[in-house]
Amino acid sequence: DSKDYDSEVASVCPFCGVGCQVSLKVKDGRVKFVEGIDGPANEGRLCVKGRFGFDYIHHPHRLTVPLIRREDAPAKGLNVDPGNWATHFREATWEEALDVAAGGLKGRGREVAGFGSAKCTNEEAYLFQKFIRQGFGHNNVDHCTRLCHASSVAALMENVGSAAVTATFNEIENADVAIVIGANPVENHPVAATYFKQFAKRGGKLIVMDPRGVGLRRFASHMLQFRPGADVAMLNAIMHVIVEEELFDRQYIEAYTENFPAEAAHLKDFAPEKMADICGIPAETLREVARTFAGARAGMIFWGMGVSQHIHGTDNSRCLIALALMCGHVGRPGTGLHPLRGQNNVQGASDAGLIPMFLPDYQSVTDDGVRSAFTEVWQSGDFSNQKGLTVTEIMDAVHEGHIKAMYILGENPAMSDPDVEHARDALAKLDHLVVQDIFLTETANYADVILPASAFAEKSGTVTNTNRQVQMGRPAVPPPGQAREDWAITVDLARRCGLDWQHDSPADVFAEMKRTMKSLDNITWERLSRVNVVTYPSLTPEDPGQPIVFGEGFPRAGGRAKFTPANVIAPAEAPDADYPMILTTGRQLEHWHTGSMTRRSKVLDAVEPEANCSLHPSTLRRLGVEPGGMLRLTTRRGSIEIMARADRAVAPDMVFLPFAYVEAAANILTNPAVDPYGKIPEFKFSAVRVEPA
Ligand code: SF4
Repeated sequence: DSKDYDSEVASVCPFCGVGCQVSLKVKDGRVKFVEGIDGPANEGRLCVKGRFGFDYIHHPHRLTVPLIRREDAPAKGLNVDPGNWATHFREATWEEALDVAAGGLKGRGREVAGFGSAKCTNEEAYLFQKFIRQGFGHNNVDHCTRLCHASSVAALMENVGSAAVTATFNEIENADVAIVIGANPVENHPVAATYFKQFAKRGGKLIVMDPRGVGLRRFASHMLQFRPGADVAMLNAIMHVIVEEELFDRQYIEAYTENFPAEAAHLKDFAPEKMADICGIPAETLREVARTFAGARAGMIFWGMGVSQHIHGTDNSRCLIALALMCGHVGRPGTGLHPLRGQNNVQGASDAGLIPMFLPDYQSVTDDGVRSAFTEVWQSGDFSNQKGLTVTEIMDAVHEGHIKAMYILGENPAMSDPDVEHARDALAKLDHLVVQDIFLTETANYADVILPASAFAEKSGTVTNTNRQVQMGRPAVPPPGQAREDWAITVDLARRCGLDWQHDSPADVFAEMKRTMKSLDNITWERLSRVNVVTYPSLTPEDPGQPIVFGEGFPRAGGRAKFTPANVIAPAEAPDADYPMILTTGRQLEHWHTGSMTRRSKVLDAVEPEANCSLHPSTLRRLGVEPGGMLRLTTRRGSIEIMARADRAVAPDMVFLPFAYVEAAANILTNPAVDPYGKIPEFKFSAVRVEPA
């Protein structure tokens, strides 16, 4: 009976960046089921994760008491049973656990680094970065944006002057043409995908570009299944046509941009007829796509991690920005640049300064004026003016002996880092690791202290979705046992590390954030509590916010966006005789990131219970392996065994591998080479050998 509940609470789905609003139906102190409600991003819709992926919050593996590593515990390694940890850890009081946690961090300055979380609230992200900067005097603080859209952020900051989307994805209803590149929204942003499908059904031209034949292809007017890593060649060829045939928007370029002559000159070398073989798309198709996009009244570009997770990820985004700018497809209804954000609060956590080069609102740590404004608000001394280390650099610094202690909140680098054995070895080397989480994750296996935290349905706080929509999350049930809200744990830890923090609620933290973040002008805790959502920027206390920005220029010097030409760069690792195929990693509809939540959700785990990878049927035939049979995948980093699936959408020389499964961890295989600007790893291209297991 769907009416069989005691209370209902409005909150926000904890999985992807779409940010669907949900109603949590509670009975007998447990969330019984979830329904979609009328948020601006979802209008009542939910995908299978939002609808069924909630019961992990009541899973018996939940951490309910603080834990301290036993003195007689086995050597650190991936060797703890999350349901039976007593061989490695002992229960502790909060007092003791916080004392031990702080004791290993306090006074260690540059030896400490922190990973915060895009699963936590804006207030928790803000407190976390403040703790590392104020408490230890440097900027070695990062989170999973480094593995997600860091290269998109680098290109957007460079060329547009703002890291967020220029238009909400719902603006597609006002577009004539939309490009979706390097993204699989049907699985990874499923509710956004429903708007894309509706757009195509009412006659909008949907141009899908991806090395995999992703789910949107059934709705595409054009499907460009290009060769992995050939994005820049393909996009430059399309822009070559726009320049050669003078299809660009001259008035817009002159009014709002700079450096177009350099871009146009650069593109001369990228004729479609020259690029066709490199990108595997016929020259005539490239020409037709160029004419379609440039000739549209209003066009949008959406992209995902297929664009960002390359050593040329920033160049890929530079091309997309240039393509939109030269066509004048920014700042009007139905136009815009939209990197589809992955995690539910990766936009908000980045806005809140959980990154090593920027303070809240992307204010540079190298700017003395900015830093002194923060130290004034924080009422404390200075912190370093040097950009901090990123996620993967921090692990390198552990191996080099520079970083010896870490505080990790809600992230799982023992599963998510590229070349993950390198990260696991680094975690084992630390002489002090504090992990704050809701489960004993693979990363918590290596902890000295584990602090039990709260799931989304147990806490108050704001989150910001891919659309720049700041939304209010509310608690529906109490945390289990002695588990606490993350913001409160960080405050207690900071106090024990000597900081005079008086924060007593998320509302109080939000009020401090507003003093440092102009993006939150006209957005208050009280207002969000009342209306649930405000899109930033909000121009007045009543303005629901601006879905489209930069119609009157850009937040760069002179108000102009910039063209930055991009060259073709080969992937860091080319296939060869030993490793002849291409490995690409990603997500599946039913599982979220490293699987800690969705693999503990009954329905989701029942639908997709087993580690699997996908190959073209002809490749499986060549290998003599039936669908359902086992394969061994080997790269220069390591080897895994995994069940094979046949999928015609995967090119014959590729393997697609989800990264949610610890028993066949994809990142044992991935290449740690990074983009030089965004420092994002090349998850989308590794050379791999595939054999029957
Ligand atoms: Fe949650 Fe994303 Fe699905 Fe919406 S589309 S229900 S935010 S996972």
